[in-house]
Amino acid sequence: MMVRYLVTGGAGFIGSAVVRRLLQTAGNEVLVIDKLTYAGNLESLAPVASHPHYRFMQADIVDGAAMRGAFMEFSPDVVMHLAAESHVDRSIDGPGEFIQTNIVGTFSLLQAALAHWRELPVERKQGFRFHHISTDEVFGSLGATGYFTEETPYQPNSPYSASKAASDHLVRAWHHTYGLPVVMTNCSNNYGPYHFPEKLIPLTIINALEGKPLPVYGTGENIRDWLHVDDHAEALIQVARRGAPGQSYNIGGHNEHTNISVVRAICALLDELAPDASIGPREMLITFVTDRPGHDARYAIDAAKIAKELGWRPWHSFESGLRETVQWYLDNKTWWERVRSGVYRGERLGVAI
Ligand code: NAD
Repeated sequence: MMVRYLVTGGAGFIGSAVVRRLLQTAGNEVLVIDKLTYAGNLESLAPVASHPHYRFMQADIVDGAAMRGAFMEFSPDVVMHLAAESHVDRSIDGPGEFIQTNIVGTFSLLQAALAHWRELPVERKQGFRFHHISTDEVFGSLGATGYFTEETPYQPNSPYSASKAASDHLVRAWHHTYGLPVVMTNCSNNYGPYHFPEKLIPLTIINALEGKPLPVYGTGENIRDWLHVDDHAEALIQVARRGAPGQSYNIGGHNEHTNISVVRAICALLDELAPDASIGPREMLITFVTDRPGHDARYAIDAAKIAKELGWRPWHSFESGLRETVQWYLDNKTWWERVRSGVYRGERLGVAI
């Protein structure tokens, strides 16, 4: 029997990895709903574009009527909700879109899902899941020690993380109040292929390749826990299928690194894989710039619950995953050149002055 997945934000970085992965399994059918903002790219779905069990709908999740129509027509078994405004620096410059998409959009999707779920026959009703994909940034910032668990209190610091915290609370409340079978995940920083080049790793790779300055915020000592997007996609599919209703799961890569060490590692990889005498050693391109206002010092995930309950563990080491990612950007210049030819040209965002 076919399992029907409605994936919002499926043209984005993580959503497209989920869709490509779902369609590797026979018996899965996927409808992607995506507004195609600057961050959404159909090129990232090109590998599945002609798959017989793949469909695409361009729509805004804030549009309640369009969402209800999509649920009635597609009749999903599982909703994987990834559509969001996702870049902290953009949320500092213009928080309005974050409130609309991340909070109001999640609300309209929950309402459409609830109306659909209430009409399902008993056996489909029990199996239905609404999966909200969120971030570890809702927990705030850590000191030098400790980890975020599923019980860590929420303390979002940026407009982005506050909007994601709000949507987490809505999803939890739709379970508690209306019984909608939801599951939630909070994950650490992702990296890997098809990552929009405004985020640290792809921006550094592309600038270093082109011999441009490599901006590092503050002193570069902020720590992130890096998770390969394909490890994440597999974890999300496991949670969507086997997670217990009402539960949340933290997903992390067990890969803590300072930003400056990540940038240095990319420089070394490019010097090896794409040496360029006219540029010289890429480390010389590193430029320290004004820190992000309210920049969280450290994020790190305790992923023991998902390991124990669902048997998931990341299989990429950061070293192998980063090498593979750098190689992917070297091999897929047309993808990032096309993506970059849109509205974003690599400029600095989010200084709040
Ligand atoms: P992304 O910015 O690459 O993609 C977001 C997608 O959502 C895009 O395709 C965009 O077109 C679409 N979208 C935006 N607004 C929309 C709207 N109103 N209606 C319909 N579609 C809309 O984001 P990503 O990095 O793939 O992140 C996916 C999810 O995972 C987000 O919810 C994000 O908060 C969460 N997350 C991401 C990370 C990370 O490291 N990238 C870490 C933790 C959590």
